[in-house]
Amino acid sequence: MIVVENLHKHFGGFHAVDGASLEIRTGSITGLIGPNGAGKTTLFNVIAGRLPPTSGRVLMDGEDITGLPPHTLFAKGLLRTFQIAHEFGSMTVRENLMMVPAQQSGERLWNAWFHRGRITAEEKRLRDKADEVLDFLTISHIADAKASQISGGQKKLVELGRTMMVDAKIVFLDEVGAGVNRTLLNTIGDAIIRLNQERGYTFCVIEHDMDFIARLCNPVICMAEGKVLAQGTVDEVKNDERVIEAYLGT
Ligand code: ADP
Repeated sequence: MIVVENLHKHFGGFHAVDGASLEIRTGSITGLIGPNGAGKTTLFNVIAGRLPPTSGRVLMDGEDITGLPPHTLFAKGLLRTFQIAHEFGSMTVRENLMMVPAQQSGERLWNAWFHRGRITAEEKRLRDKADEVLDFLTISHIADAKASQISGGQKKLVELGRTMMVDAKIVFLDEVGAGVNRTLLNTIGDAIIRLNQERGYTFCVIEHDMDFIARLCNPVICMAEGKVLAQGTVDEVKNDERVIEAYLGT
């Protein structure tokens, strides 16, 4: 689905991504690992249209999507999860989900939401959709909670839920497990597997928790110093000498 060809992203003289080439197969849950500073997040940001590359190409289903803005990529079904913005913390979890289609398509929030005196058919449809998403993620009980008051793991589930408000094809998830307890991490893992199997989502996941990666991901790609070092099954990558060296070197 995604082909990255010889991608470079330089910040001044620093090569954060330094000639990375990789593929993400349709229907896979691909893991992206590597020591801190390897260039994983920068690579995600370039693929998702948040940063222009210095050089190189990104293809989606054969089409050159290099440098397209996030809302154009979003319309093609390529999404990168992002944290719930501070200003949406006072809205409920359900409202945060209902916001997504308008927010991402570049519509003005004002038009989309703040003329809310009347319940429109569109609003009802979005509400039903949000409730279905919350049910799928087993978090219906927090639908009316303020987004600022839910736990870190629940926030991650809501971030995942936001991708379900639209027709995503491929979702880029950055460090789902950071600061999340084991039980919720399992719930997040279950949701990713079900979205992959039941809804045909392709995923690319950056994660440091190797148990999580081992449970979900095949293949696993390891980056170091802006380049792809190794790829294969989790066992192949974990036992690759170059990978071991890269981790020991940090
Ligand atoms: P990873 O996600 O693998 O930890 P990052 O992509 O976040 O790696 O960072 C790769 C390197 O690029 C790091 O050394 C980081 O300091 C640097 N870097 C990232 N963003 C910028 C930026 N906007 N300006 C300068 N350097 C950056």
